[in-house]
Amino acid sequence: MEDCVFCKIINKEIPSDIVYEDEKVIAFKDINPATPIHILVIPKKHIATLLDVTEEDSILIAHIYQVINKIARENGFAENGFRIIANCGKDSGQEVMHIHFHILAGRKLGDKIV
Ligand code: AMP
Ligand code: ZN
Repeated sequence: MEDCVFCKIINKEIPSDIVYEDEKVIAFKDINPATPIHILVIPKKHIATLLDVTEEDSILIAHIYQVINKIARENGFAENGFRIIANCGKDSGQEVMHIHFHILAGRKLGDKIV
């Protein structure tokens, strides 16, 4: 998608600190990290919001969770744990209209999600 910052990252039109990539998914460090480890995992397919996910994307979404597990193990935070956040729509504060899964790790996270 033109004008989508994450599609530009996928196409290497803008730089990012990539931690994982395969044919379906890319993961890179968040530019404004909220936690010591803050990685975004995104599908290479442009899907604007979680509301646009369909049955056809089932394998892709399951694959994203496998990738999250792999990243957690390979980067040494699987044992201590992590949190996944995926924002959708204005009340969530979703800024980038290309679905993304935040991996937050590297310190004790708050007991409450909000
Ligand atoms: P959200 O509020 O869920 O839409 O989160 C968007 C996230 O993308 C924010 O945490 C931003 O810091 C991050 N972000 C925006 N542009 C970039 C970029 N060029 N490289 C890495 N992370 C980015
Ligand atoms: Zn996109």
